[in-house]
Amino acid sequence: MTPLLELSNVRAGYGHSLVLQDISMSLHEGEIVCLLGANGAGKTTTTRVISGLLAAGSGEVRFAGNNIAAVPAHRRVDLGICLAPEGRQVFPNFTVHQNLLIGSYSKTARQRRAEKFEQVYGLFPRLAERRAQKAGLMSGGEQQMLAIGRALMGCPRVLILDEPSLGLAPKIIIDVYETVAAIAKLGLSILFVEQNVQAALMIAHRGYVIANGRIAASGTTAELQSTSLVQEAFLGTKTGTGRAPPGPARLSAH
Ligand code: ATP
Repeated sequence: MTPLLELSNVRAGYGHSLVLQDISMSLHEGEIVCLLGANGAGKTTTTRVISGLLAAGSGEVRFAGNNIAAVPAHRRVDLGICLAPEGRQVFPNFTVHQNLLIGSYSKTARQRRAEKFEQVYGLFPRLAERRAQKAGLMSGGEQQMLAIGRALMGCPRVLILDEPSLGLAPKIIIDVYETVAAIAKLGLSILFVEQNVQAALMIAHRGYVIANGRIAASGTTAELQSTSLVQEAFLGTKTGTGRAPPGPARLSAH
């Protein structure tokens, strides 16, 4: 089956600095896929290439079977590629409702605005309660919910979440990820970026590990948990000695 989103041998960077060396990954309809990596590994850069904020120097980004290299970022939102960026980036002086409204500027989203407001307020009752409050006065967890809600207002087929757990308390991280799992049940495909592997593996079906701009490993959630790479680099345990189950390195090397 053709993936909904596919990156093939993507190279990209900033000026003369090449960050993504050769990224290939895919996301199928209805899948939840995580992209794991340490600080500076290239996770956010990958989300920028997918959402069209940064052009790939070479390689292909395909959406629903079509090469979208020439499609600008705002048109990608129209296609259904919606990003909740790292650090939330809500508009602090706008109300919750106004922030959500900003997420629904595309043609498709404008037509479905009332329906999407109902969906987002249903998923996030806290946002409904606080709809008239300035976003800057919301807690970190609430602002994360708002950033996800704003992306949902764009009517995504692919929802991209860049480090939704960043800076949040463990209890709030669980709340956020429970809501992401509920969103996935609506039939969306979700690609999310994380450094917090335990949070990521709670809900992902599959994942990739990125290191120094290259895909270092990939596999199902169970495969990722059992590899020494993930255990040592992220979980702070060693193969066969820690919380994650022991087992051979079953990741497919790239
Ligand atoms: P983090 O979790 O810390 O955000 P990341 O995996 O998302 O890390 P990126 O933000 O993609 O990493 O950064 C990858 C590399 O690209 C880093 O070396 C970073 O310094 C560099 N980089 C990121 N943004 C820019 C930019 N706008 N201009 C130049 N270099 C950049």
